[in-house]
Order: sequence, then structure tokens, then C-alpha cells
Amino acid sequence: MIEPLTIAVSKGRILQESLPLLAQAGIVPVEDPDRSRRLILPTGRAGVRLVVIRAADVPTYVQYGAADLGITGKDVLLEHGGAGLYEPLDLGIARCRMMVAGLPDAAREPGIRLRVATKYVASTRRYFAAQGRQVEIIKLYGSMELAPLVGLADCIVDLVDTGGTLKANGLVPLDLVAEISSRVIVNKAAMKMKHDRVKALLRELEEAARPSDRDRRSRRHAGAGEGR
Ligand code: AMP
Repeated sequence: MIEPLTIAVSKGRILQESLPLLAQAGIVPVEDPDRSRRLILPTGRAGVRLVVIRAADVPTYVQYGAADLGITGKDVLLEHGGAGLYEPLDLGIARCRMMVAGLPDAAREPGIRLRVATKYVASTRRYFAAQGRQVEIIKLYGSMELAPLVGLADCIVDLVDTGGTLKANGLVPLDLVAEISSRVIVNKAAMKMKHDRVKALLRELEEAARPSDRDRRSRRHAGAGEGR
């Protein structure tokens, strides 16, 4: 029997947006991943199975070869560092921006050492270091928006999609750290040992992720409407 190809997918929004793309490659889990208690889900494509796990665990599973491929956000990959992984494909889904945000009226004098609250410690350190700024990073696990409101930090680094969460808390976006979207990652050994199957799957996912002519037309229409 041939060894199965295992794909690790981040729970939540990335899973929801990945399922239609995977389906185009015949990868349809046998049970609804949101309802099933099974941690390994066989799919309609022979020899391909899914594991649905927390986003931050996806690169770890793929790095150690417990999964051959993974689908996760660029934010998670920036934090992980990418050891043992290839990142061959941008699926263009679950798009958002990693941004510095803070109170609109906060004094931000260049001489003062900023306190920055974030879950994204590595990305934040790299971003401020590239500007030659030493900052104090306060690691949080969620609800970063609260930190400037209660004086825990001067600003935050967090993901922003519509900007609604920032706005609801009286915060404003200040600077772009990185554009984020979901990527397919591949274990380096699997890329060699299961080369043909991995490459075929990557080609199919690339095709599925490519905007169709219809999408492009409707986007052009939406763009034309905005100017009016
Ligand atoms: P929004 O209010 O639409 O700007 O969304 C911001 C909130 O949603 C923040 O708490 C983010 O952490 C989260 N968020 C936005 N986009 C994503 C994404 N692509 N992946 C994971 N979390 C996201």
C-alpha cells in the first residue's frame, strides 16, 4: 500500500476558505471537520487525509514530517521561521494585514522606548529592528486591542481585516508590518520522497486558487463602481 499524503490545515477561517479549493482537487473530508471528533479525516481522494489543527501547530507538524503538506497563514510562518519547510504556493485566501495600531492621540516620540503588546513577537522584533528602534515587547495570547486602553502598552501589532475591531476600541492603524494570506507549505523530505504526488497536488491547488475569469470580471465591475 502506498503511504498516505497527510495535509495539516489550520482550524477556523483558513479551513473554511480552503475546503472549496481542496474540493476542486477531489479532497473532500468524509465527515464535516467542524462536527467530527476524528482528528484524522480520510477524504474522497484516495491516499489523501486531512488533520485539522491549531494554526500555530501546522508548521511544526509539517517541519517534523507528521504532515507532508500544510495550509496556514503567513503570520504563523513568519513567527515559525520556516525551518524544514518549503512554501511553494500562496492560496490568496484569508487575506489580512499585520499592522501596528494604537490610540490616535498617543505621543510617539522617537527617543522613547515603546512598549508593544503582541502575539507576533518575532515579526514585531524584526519590524522595529529594521527601523533601528529598540522596543519592549509584551507577549499576549489574545485581545491585544485591550493593552493600549488599560496602559499595558503604547501600541499593538495585530492582524487587521476590516478594521472593525480596532475602530470598536478607539484604535487606529499606524503602520503596515506585512501583508498576510494563507500559504501551502511542504515538508522538505516529502517534497523529495513523494515528489510526483506533491507536485501534482500543488498544481491542482494552484489552478483552484487562480481567480477565474468570472471573478476577475466581477472585481473589475466592483472597481468601476467605486469611482462613481
Ligand atoms: P477586523 O475587525 O475585521 O479588522 O478583524 C480583526 C480581528 O480578526 C483581529 O482580532 C484579528 O486577530 C482577526 N483576524 C483578522 N483577519 C484574520 C486572519 N486572516 N486570520 C486570523 N485572524 C484574523
